[in-house]
Amino acid sequence: MIFLKTEDEIELLRASNLLVGKTLAEVAKVIRPGVTTKELDKVAEEFIRDHGAIPTFKGFANPYGGPFPASICTSVNEQVVHGIPSDVVLKDGDIVSVDCGTYLNGFCGDSAYTFCVGDVCEEVRNLLKVTKNALYIGIENAVQGKRLGDIGYAIQQHCEAHSYGVVREFVGHGIGKEMHEDPQVPNYGKRGTGALLKKGLCIAIEPMITLGDRHVVMGKDGWTVSTKDKKCAAHFEHTVAVTSSRADILSSFKFIEDVLGDQAI
Ligand code: MG
Ligand code: MG
Repeated sequence: MIFLKTEDEIELLRASNLLVGKTLAEVAKVIRPGVTTKELDKVAEEFIRDHGAIPTFKGFANPYGGPFPASICTSVNEQVVHGIPSDVVLKDGDIVSVDCGTYLNGFCGDSAYTFCVGDVCEEVRNLLKVTKNALYIGIENAVQGKRLGDIGYAIQQHCEAHSYGVVREFVGHGIGKEMHEDPQVPNYGKRGTGALLKKGLCIAIEPMITLGDRHVVMGKDGWTVSTKDKKCAAHFEHTVAVTSSRADILSSFKFIEDVLGDQAI
């Protein structure tokens, strides 16, 4: 069942999502070679709780793994999504996707950004640029009167034109009082198909794009999703509200990009 949100509910969603953007910026401040992903998690959890919110990922259950043990997902290099923060040390040339969720005043925030650790090769930087652009191209299609398939089609076309893989097994989603609501929002699809987009629909759009083949494997922990060919993957996510004109982006990369400065992708 799809829940359309009122303007007041959209403002509550915006507050939760802006907190995610600010949390990701705090994480951005400490990303460098030598830091562990567990240290990133600690920064995020403290910041979220200090702002009166709850990290929605912590304790989240899935049918394959136990409750998620951390406040953010940290997915390094060939890991696509749902990586568990650990004592693994980030090194120069790595990339790390940080996905963060908050619950504030009854509404969920969800946004992700893939960061470079030190100097990252041109080939992988390009993957990040194209994936981030694909997110915004998808968002351009999140307007009243279009259909869900238009979003996925636009993302898929853009990424496959660069010979990248589009992950099929994991998709974006509706968002509101629950982190995952209907509808599913695939990053692939056919133009003019799927649910009609209506004003008040709030969705998380999150392309997961691979440098090589699109196929993924599930880790033994029941959470970590990696590329089968072990080539890098990128993941960027915004929560947006459908309006009658441009999509209203409720999360924000502004805080992150203020931290990254000219190092931003
Ligand atoms: Mg997310
Ligand atoms: Mg999401």
